[in-house]
Amino acid sequence: MQVKKGIPVSPGVAIYPVVVLDAVDRRIPRRTVTRALIVREHERLEKALDASTKEIERLRDQTAESLGKFSQIFSAHIAMLDDPHVIGQIREMINNDRVTAEYAVYAVMRQFTQAFLQHENKFLRDRASDVRDLEHRILRQLIGHTHSDIEHLEQQSIVIAHDLTPSQTAALDTTKIRAIATDAGGRTSHTAILAHALGIPAIVGLEEVTRLVSTGETAIIDGNRGLVVIDPDAERIMEYRQEERRFAAFEDTLGQLKALPAVTQDGTDINLQANIEFPTEIPETLANGATGVGLYRTEFLFLATDSQPTEQEQFESYCRVIKALDGRPLTIRTLDLGADKIGRSLSALNGENAERNPFLGCRSIRMCLQNLPLFKTQLRAILRASVNGPLRIMFPLISNIMELRQARMILGDVMEDLQDQGIPFRENIPVGIMIEVPSAALQARVFAREVDFFSIGTNDLIQYTVAVDRGNERIASLYSAAHPAVLELVRQVIQVADQANMEVSLCGEMAGEPEFAMLLIGLGLRNLSITPPAIPEIKKIIRSVSIDQCRHIARKANSFDSDREIISYLRGEVSKVLPEAFASSSITF
Ligand code: PEP
Ligand code: MG
Repeated sequence: MQVKKGIPVSPGVAIYPVVVLDAVDRRIPRRTVTRALIVREHERLEKALDASTKEIERLRDQTAESLGKFSQIFSAHIAMLDDPHVIGQIREMINNDRVTAEYAVYAVMRQFTQAFLQHENKFLRDRASDVRDLEHRILRQLIGHTHSDIEHLEQQSIVIAHDLTPSQTAALDTTKIRAIATDAGGRTSHTAILAHALGIPAIVGLEEVTRLVSTGETAIIDGNRGLVVIDPDAERIMEYRQEERRFAAFEDTLGQLKALPAVTQDGTDINLQANIEFPTEIPETLANGATGVGLYRTEFLFLATDSQPTEQEQFESYCRVIKALDGRPLTIRTLDLGADKIGRSLSALNGENAERNPFLGCRSIRMCLQNLPLFKTQLRAILRASVNGPLRIMFPLISNIMELRQARMILGDVMEDLQDQGIPFRENIPVGIMIEVPSAALQARVFAREVDFFSIGTNDLIQYTVAVDRGNERIASLYSAAHPAVLELVRQVIQVADQANMEVSLCGEMAGEPEFAMLLIGLGLRNLSITPPAIPEIKKIIRSVSIDQCRHIARKANSFDSDREIISYLRGEVSKVLPEAFASSSITF
């Protein structure tokens, strides 16, 4: 049994067999098999060698024309797959050491790679990459599942991968995939956000979990504490089954709050809206007690397909959301593509070359302003849908007043076009911006004169304030919503909005984290937009506290110098209000 700790991003417990994705270039654990199973390992090896040879032959034939004599490299690979020296050693190792086929391939091929790497002849040193390539190819045949494989899983499983893109995560079939764990990623990476929205336990930032676990092994994903338990013993499984029941009972109690309003002890209403990525999320969102949608991340429609969605497809999606909301408010955010959200159909828009600093690059509103047909198509679809229900338009990643003015001007152009064509749309649609760049937060007073509302996007605001990539697990401990500088910016924006008598909401992940609920209300926020599964828990906190209590917490938090002090203070306070969520279970390691 092994235990690995990562960043918990979606709560719950799951105990299932594991499927490891793209299990190449990782350490393969040494596993022995019984004497009776040696024959099976030989059969697996032969099958993998055969499939690899066919794969390379196909590649060689396909590239014969384009690569000319260089396609001969594949012939060398095929020869190596037939080399009695190399393959003989692998077969011998399975026989003598009784190890799995994948371990024998891994161990023998690594030895050859090392030998080539240390050779003084440059030509032979360069052959090391050929051996590595072959090793990967055979291992992929033996153990590596690809993303298309997991579309056909027959049993419920846990997916463990080095990383998953947001679109891969969105495509997971959660009736089969019951939890996910990744080496990479941070608390607010879009993969983490989606995993939470899918409602399955998830852990990211495990750094090397794919090296420790093999497909077929059982694991426990403890999404409450961010632990992966590999190959657990019977006692541990029993403890976690109990934990599963405890968690389900806690969720049941929270479920009873769904129909009740989010109102503090002294009668102040807090508007709890939801963040969504797809129209299909609405029924669950409403069942969780959301009063509307405060952030519709429309770019996910682009990530879900290979081609760019047409105006009509976008229009239909927006209409579906409006219809399902049945008169409740909807804030549609215009496309926030780029950085970690690049669909296959869009890579061409940013040029074929990857950007050096994608989070500081041509993402979001910047990409829209440089691709006007894309932007105008979306605005037309939104405006056409606006006649069906109350909606607002929100521009993301505004960092400069000129960007806002340009975006508004284009919106005006699209309105004129629709008017000319006699296509109806709602007049006076409220237009707002996300405050997620420090420059916008610091200039909030200027922006307040030109928009109808603000929504504070702390997921990005944190990364740009403390200069920490939100998806990078190596520096995840520096990415903190409790950083005093981040809280100071949030405080300032709320103040400006209050003075301007303008609505301000907060839609970053911190709004759904129990630790921050009282602080945010104490800072003056009355609108929060959060991931749907977190709504009942936040509502429970709101219903248990008074505004005075929250103000006191906000004042006290302001007296600390570091995020560590702030977060430990906030944890202490919320555990008094919601002890069930912080009850330490009997499980210890
Ligand atoms: C944010 O940055 O806080 C936000 C809500 O937007 P996203 O997570 O989609 O970048
Ligand atoms: Mg953002």
